[in-house]
Amino acid sequence: MERPTIDGMTDGFGRRVSYLRVSITDRCDFRCTYCMSETMSFLPKNELLTLQELERLCMVFISKGVRKLRLTGGEPLVRKGMMDLVRSLGRKIGSGLDELTLTTNGAQLAQHAVELADAGVRRLNVSLDSLQSDLFRQITRRGELARVLDGIEAALAAGLKIKLNVVAMRGVNEQELPDIIRFAHLYGMDVTLIETMPMGDVGEDRTDVYLPLSEVRRNLADHFTMRTLDHRTSGPARYVEVAETNGRLGFITPMSHNFCESCNRVRLTCTGTLYMCLGQDDAIDLRAAMRSGANDFELGRVIDDGISRKPRGHDFVIGRGEKPAVRRHMSVTGG
Ligand code: SAM
Ligand code: SF4
Repeated sequence: MERPTIDGMTDGFGRRVSYLRVSITDRCDFRCTYCMSETMSFLPKNELLTLQELERLCMVFISKGVRKLRLTGGEPLVRKGMMDLVRSLGRKIGSGLDELTLTTNGAQLAQHAVELADAGVRRLNVSLDSLQSDLFRQITRRGELARVLDGIEAALAAGLKIKLNVVAMRGVNEQELPDIIRFAHLYGMDVTLIETMPMGDVGEDRTDVYLPLSEVRRNLADHFTMRTLDHRTSGPARYVEVAETNGRLGFITPMSHNFCESCNRVRLTCTGTLYMCLGQDDAIDLRAAMRSGANDFELGRVIDDGISRKPRGHDFVIGRGEKPAVRRHMSVTGG
């Protein structure tokens, strides 16, 4: 009997796909200005995969060679019952999976940190765009900085390693970036700066705040001595070491630098749609396949079809009055 492939997934450009990001909900307790509009409407519940369906798809991906899995959203920690999913995926660590991680806004982290660590999670990405409560509230539209800091503290105390994700925004947190970097490094956290990407309508023009990281890096040179590192995670960041803080700083530059040639990832949404590229619309409907009774082998075949269609790369552009490069929000595809 033919079995699902266990020898890994390789796309048409010879890139091996070993990293799956899963957006387990499109909902969020924040409304960050670059990510969603104030009046964001969320998907009807019946369109979402159940946690059991999400778990089944993750298991099929693991059997096909996914070694690293990141749960994201929306805000992954707001989905009811998500710890059950984390626990069952955590049991695959060491038998198929190398690493299970999450990206979170940190607001609910204090309650979940110990459970995450117990389930086998070792590293988290936490988004933090400002250390000033007022500005933090303005960017997230409803976030409370103190809660996020409590979450970070709890996670560090539980032994989790944290990387801070910071979206660099002109005239918003631009001046504060050196302080955020010092803060992160003081607590032993890596930090990665991200450019705003044109994803989904957010009710305002992102051109105003788009800040190329090439410019940020030039300005940071007034504050820090940066040495380029060879270090690469399985992500797209390029890293430097900051001599003054002894910490690591990453730059993700989807807009000004194309990192697609080494892309090893695909993204699964909470509705079971598989996107082969963050910046392209082509997708595979795994929910339809699953709900029409496909077995794991047949699901594997549908996934193979998607992987073979993974495009060479994205071509984001940000221009005044331009429509978003892709219609869906980052909270749907997962950051
Ligand atoms: N809610 C969680 C969080 O904020 O960390 C996880 C999901 S969020 C969509 C994942 C990451 O995407 C966050 O670091 C966020 O800053 C980033 N992000 C969202 N929209 C973006 C955009 N338009 N451009 C660049 N980064 C974006
Ligand atoms: Fe929510 Fe994360 Fe989007 Fe902010 S970036 S609105 S926290 S999903």
